[in-house]
Amino acid sequence: MDLLEKLVSLAKRRGFVYQSSEIYGGWEATYDFGPLGAELLRNIRNLWWQEFVHNRPDIVGIDGAIISHPRVWEASGHTESFTDVMVEDLKTHKRYRADHLSNKIEDGMTPEEIDQVIKENKIRSPDGNSLSKAKKFNNLVEVYIGTLENEKTLAYLRGETCQPIFYNYQLIKDSMRMKLPFGIAQIGKAFRNEIKVGPYFFRTREFEQMEIEMFLHPSEADYYFEKFKEWSMSWLKQLGIDENKLRFREQEFKERAHYNKIATDIEYKFPFGWKEFQGIHYRGDWDLSRHGEYSKTDFKYRDDVRNEEYIPHVVEYSIGLNRLMLVLLFDSYSEDDGKVTLKLNPRLSPYKVAVFPLLSNRPRLVDKAHKVFEALKTRFHCAWDSRGNIGKRYASQDEIGTPWCVTVDFDTLKYETVTVRDRDTKLQERVSVDRLQKYFENQLYEN
Ligand code: ATP
Repeated sequence: MDLLEKLVSLAKRRGFVYQSSEIYGGWEATYDFGPLGAELLRNIRNLWWQEFVHNRPDIVGIDGAIISHPRVWEASGHTESFTDVMVEDLKTHKRYRADHLSNKIEDGMTPEEIDQVIKENKIRSPDGNSLSKAKKFNNLVEVYIGTLENEKTLAYLRGETCQPIFYNYQLIKDSMRMKLPFGIAQIGKAFRNEIKVGPYFFRTREFEQMEIEMFLHPSEADYYFEKFKEWSMSWLKQLGIDENKLRFREQEFKERAHYNKIATDIEYKFPFGWKEFQGIHYRGDWDLSRHGEYSKTDFKYRDDVRNEEYIPHVVEYSIGLNRLMLVLLFDSYSEDDGKVTLKLNPRLSPYKVAVFPLLSNRPRLVDKAHKVFEALKTRFHCAWDSRGNIGKRYASQDEIGTPWCVTVDFDTLKYETVTVRDRDTKLQERVSVDRLQKYFENQLYEN
């Protein structure tokens, strides 16, 4: 089994990720996050929000609507330019994103250029068949809203989370009394009708993004672009991701989205190659200018310090939550002698502590372990396990990344101490019950 297969199997067996609608045969590229997956996602969201919103007086956060006025997507340029080029296998009718078929076809080429490359290089489909002419395909997911059959309005599920940030820019700036440069952050779902999906939940049609739009004077764009590269990389390292598997990659002109002047990706070395999981983009004044034009709103900022009026420019930092989760799962997966440990940063682990009574048929031990569990659960998300032997319970917690296991034994009844076992070192230590909370707090928050 390769690493991807091992991870898919572990994630399903231990309640992280399920193929959506499995009882109906599954639904392409759609996944549901189970109890432990939901905890992991929550922890990532919370840490990100803490780092980039709560720790930053110059950044505020919002939670915008998924379906907004359809004009938003005309103004943003998505109805016209949010496209990939697609080709079809003329025999099987499978559709492919042209730039994924051959490295001779580059992201950003026109359909005509692609037809030419296919012809010159005799490129065929992965099944060896001839290909159709290339054509543009819009990635926006359409929805029809309304109660009367004939009067439904065509709208779109948002293709990127940032649009509510742009059309609310003025309201947010005024209600929060922000002065440039300042940022607006958001975490939420986005939807794209991707032609090619996978592997696993790397590319899906429904996903979550964590984004910041930094509004600034054009002369500050370079500074913030570099700073966001630094801040975002430093946060990834704080999460414990292996530095050797992270790299920046400048996007070529042709690859860039229609709104970007400069774009740098951060890539991770997945088992299926180096792939993007976050981007830093300089969007210029594209978004506010276009929304200004389409909605007849004046987005000019009166800069009292510079004594100037201008439309703010934007540097964007955008990271896919689900993709980051996939990075973290791969990065933390370790196997020793057939035993799996998810070496997640403890702050990300679904459970921080697991509490066990040494024997499940000794009521005094079970009662005492319950008391320890009750006390710790007010502060940390705790697991309880009283099945099987201690070795199996350790192995089971290692597999889901629980950093510490606490065993209540006969000495606990005599001396008020427990055994704390560390997931990564496998070392055990006696700690007194009244010091437990502090013991975990120190390791979780002060390292
Ligand atoms: P890609 O080149 O992989 O299609 P993109 O350059 O279009 O991605 P952006 O629009 O810059 O991506 O989105 C920012 C982030 O959102 C990406 O780095 C990625 O983590 C996430 N993302 C984008 N599309 C998807 C998707 N279909 N599934 C999961 N995550 C996605």
